[in-house]
Amino acid sequence: MADDSKVQDTRANVDSVAVVLKEIKCCSRCVLRFLGEKNSSLYQNSEEEDVNVKSPCIACLAVLEKKQEKSFIDKIQSSIRKAGHQFDSFMLTISLPLSIILRQHSVSLFLQEHHSSIFDKKMLSETPSVKEVFKWVYGPIVEELLQVDYMPLSPFKISLVFTHKDNNKELEFLNNSSKTTTRQRQKRQKMEASMTAPSVKKALADLTAVSQLKRLADCPPQPAALPIELSEVVCAHDSIYIAGRYNKFSRVLSQTPWIIDNVRHTESSVEEKICDRIRNKIKADDHKFASAGREDIDVLMLGRGKPFLVEFINPRVTRLSESFLSDLQQEINSSTTDIFVRDLQQVTKDDCQILKDAESNKTKTYKAVIWTKEEIVEKQLHILQDTKDLIISQKTPLRVLHRRPLAVRERCIYSMIPAEQIDSHHFNLFLKTQAGTYIKEFVHGDFGRTKPNLGQLLNTETDILQLDVESVDVDWPPRKEEIDDQLKESS
Ligand SMILES: [Zn+2]
Repeated sequence: MADDSKVQDTRANVDSVAVVLKEIKCCSRCVLRFLGEKNSSLYQNSEEEDVNVKSPCIACLAVLEKKQEKSFIDKIQSSIRKAGHQFDSFMLTISLPLSIILRQHSVSLFLQEHHSSIFDKKMLSETPSVKEVFKWVYGPIVEELLQVDYMPLSPFKISLVFTHKDNNKELEFLNNSSKTTTRQRQKRQKMEASMTAPSVKKALADLTAVSQLKRLADCPPQPAALPIELSEVVCAHDSIYIAGRYNKFSRVLSQTPWIIDNVRHTESSVEEKICDRIRNKIKADDHKFASAGREDIDVLMLGRGKPFLVEFINPRVTRLSESFLSDLQQEINSSTTDIFVRDLQQVTKDDCQILKDAESNKTKTYKAVIWTKEEIVEKQLHILQDTKDLIISQKTPLRVLHRRPLAVRERCIYSMIPAEQIDSHHFNLFLKTQAGTYIKEFVHGDFGRTKPNLGQLLNTETDILQLDVESVDVDWPPRKEEIDDQLKESS
């Protein structure tokens, strides 16, 4: 019996506090918030605001008011349409003016002091936030509108930026400066720009009584003249990663755009020939190209090619079918004879690491045309064939010293196989080396900066006339033929 009456008391209290909250001009959803309601469906079905209330809610500045729903949804819908993304789910992020934090704090203090029988500090600290309630309400509405799932984490992000005209004015007191000399004004503007949610919360944390806050701001908060504004809706899709392998058949095509001081030094590049077309097709904002090591402009990339991976930032086309990718590959290949792309496929962000590891761990096979100052006979070349796992030490080559720090690194020449002698001063040499070996420097010695070098081994001056990469021994990305085989097996 006694318990029952206590419950009734509390119920009566809750009702009277709801009246108080309405009186200080909280909207229906903010009334639920301050009563600690955590049932999202109650917010979705909350009642329409009293039409006689003209000023925006003192706590949320009207962002949660039901009568705003239509205009917010219209703006969200038109922004998504304009952005033109393909997506299968979405998430919402919300940015609110910082004055909402002050208003929240002010209402909490007021309730704590004037209605302590119902509200204690702990309970108020658990009040669902404006952002939280906004998502409870708008998540399902947007879900219905777009006919895809609303998820807390989705690759497609809809960001809503709300602003309020009086934000800076309301927070001005936190800067301890109301004077208006130019210098102080500049200082204040700077502080306003640097104000963040944590810094506002920290500044308010010391104001723990109504009397303290009242000296600086209104408690409870006063109605604002204008409601909050949904000033921007930004849609963005997570990056898409596309990998493959490329051959390079040109000795005048650089790997990446060669631009110094805004002047182009080559017409195109491997990167552009691969990426521009894909980027246009999937309508991405930007791209980042990476490959298993760099090669010089005059070096060919032969064999099955070199693995590469491209991150496409904020793509609009995000559903990439097998046929889409194979068509794309064909288009790239038929547009040029300088490069050839194979194994084009979509990969994940985690695969970036495979490529990074490959840069230092994997082996590469080269074919070089060597010149010797002294005449050599075939027998001399046997020395090379017999030299296995030769550790060489290379000071940063003179030709790259302008962009790389001076260092000494050790690399391994696993094997050297003289292929054919062209004449008494020239022969072809296959080299299998650790990735990251400076091959040209190993051959000509780079003024003694690479030791031992080929000249020392052959006891004559040597130089390199031509260099091709025969293979990059990285077992990634998977061969597309293998993928096809797997598909056949599984079907
Ligand atoms: Zn409200």
